[in-house]
Amino acid sequence: MNIRIVYYFFLIIGLSFQFGLSQNEFEVVKSDKEWKSQLDELSYLVLRKAYTERPYTGKYDNFYEKGTYHCAGCDEPLYNSDFKYNSYCGWPSFDREINDKLVYDVDYKLGYPRTEIKCKKCGGHLGHVFNDGPRETTGKRHCVNSVALVFKKA
Ligand SMILES: [Zn+2]
Repeated sequence: MNIRIVYYFFLIIGLSFQFGLSQNEFEVVKSDKEWKSQLDELSYLVLRKAYTERPYTGKYDNFYEKGTYHCAGCDEPLYNSDFKYNSYCGWPSFDREINDKLVYDVDYKLGYPRTEIKCKKCGGHLGHVFNDGPRETTGKRHCVNSVALVFKKA
């Protein structure tokens, strides 16, 4: 048999397997068009295209009311206001998430690895996690885009 045919056969099997996995990875799956019509422009770019809002511009940067921060894409509660602190980095910062609500990924966009955080339910990009958080609690800093979140008062 022609070796190239065998090669393409396995390539196609491999790709469809990968595609199948990525499609089923999240509970909420929508087309790009659906996300675009549901979200405002900046939320769409951040959640679906992993953009970053400009520092010190987000509405939750200097915001400390009591309540819960939900995913702007699928409404899943992700952060409690008790986990929020001021890191002076220009974005809302939390020292931890609500249990089991995020997935972690590695992002090489800036040329070095950073830990990307996504909503576990819809896969929306939220921001990154760094290890310079408050020592007295978790040591973690979840640096999250305001536009990826919707605050609900307690
Ligand atoms: Zn979500």
